[in-house]
Amino acid sequence: MNPTILLLPGDGIGPEVVAAAVVVLRAVGDRFGHAFALTEAPIGGAALRRGLPPLPAETLQAAYAADAILLGAVGDPEFDRGDSSRRPESALLGIRRELKLYANLRPAKVWPGLENAGPLKPEVLAGTDLLVVRELTGGLYYGEPRGTDGDSAFNTMRYSRGEVRRIARRGFDAARRRRRRVTSVDKANVLETSRLWRQVVTEVARDYRNVALDHMYVDACAMKIALAPASFDVILTENLFGDILSDEAGAIVGSLGLLPSASLGDGRGLFEPVHGSAPDIAGKDIANPIGAIASAAMLLRHALQLDAEAAAVENAIGDVLREGLRTADLASAGGHPVGTRGMGERIAAVVREAGL
Ligand code: NAD
Repeated sequence: MNPTILLLPGDGIGPEVVAAAVVVLRAVGDRFGHAFALTEAPIGGAALRRGLPPLPAETLQAAYAADAILLGAVGDPEFDRGDSSRRPESALLGIRRELKLYANLRPAKVWPGLENAGPLKPEVLAGTDLLVVRELTGGLYYGEPRGTDGDSAFNTMRYSRGEVRRIARRGFDAARRRRRRVTSVDKANVLETSRLWRQVVTEVARDYRNVALDHMYVDACAMKIALAPASFDVILTENLFGDILSDEAGAIVGSLGLLPSASLGDGRGLFEPVHGSAPDIAGKDIANPIGAIASAAMLLRHALQLDAEAAAVENAIGDVLREGLRTADLASAGGHPVGTRGMGERIAAVVREAGL
């Protein structure tokens, strides 16, 4: 298999963590016999520095030509005062919009040896491995009308059956590859959109007989993520609720540097760590590359349907953390200090060794 993967390293620690992920992707290619074609294009501040817009037309073209996209991060303090269309971050919204990425997948799991890294008691966190599937292009963030009216301001939450159906399918498809449980989260006791959501999700569930579905109100779900996170498999929800719940779920498992994400549409997907460009630690070889490496694993699974390869990367991350390797953000969990490059190289080595 010779898929093309477009790398968008971006700003700050973006290039460092993407470089570490590339080392791991090459190891996957060697072990499983794939010749990944890796191309690269500028985005964000990296594009602005070359006199280009934050999302250059050539970058977008390269995105359309690729089978999948791996992004580092965008954001550069040097351009913070520019007008909003010339800010590095506008590239992110632009590429998500252009590629019509309506499904955001954010896993949160406790890695071996890191049971103490988060704010919860280790016995509460034990066994946590959940996936938030969030609708990304509808709901309150996009609904019309919106605006201000004298002393009032207003937004509109609107969902069509089609929008709910396609994200629900994503959630059930993901659950089929996991522990086959979907918790659909809404506020159907108050909101009409939530009642439609519940109805459509229930209809979609009929096509997935081997996946169990339950419904939960968003307030109850927020509480349960903090009290019993291990009880969830897939959390399927709309844009606003998913925005909040995915941050909550991410926060309980420890460092921001560990969290991957996938944004999917009907064409190629975009895969990126949840963290930003972290200018405070950029260029020091101390950023945690695991979020980016785990994003590469999601790319293998969701964009290229390479499940065994994705599992090999995730197992290698687990093995290396079990060995006790720790980037600076995980220092409180004890173990041996390692830099960004060292972490990527060790995970790549384990991917190779496991194939011998
Ligand atoms: P951030 O995620 O960059 O950093 C928050 C904190 O977490 C910092 O202390 C940072 O050092 C630490 N951190 C982040 N990633 C880490 C990693 N991999 N390893 C170790 N520590 C890590 O968020 P911020 O400081 O609010 O934003 C910085 C810039 O990034 C801004 O310009 C912002 O707009 C941008 N941003 C981009 C994205 C994205 O590209 N998806 C997301 C969020 C923020």
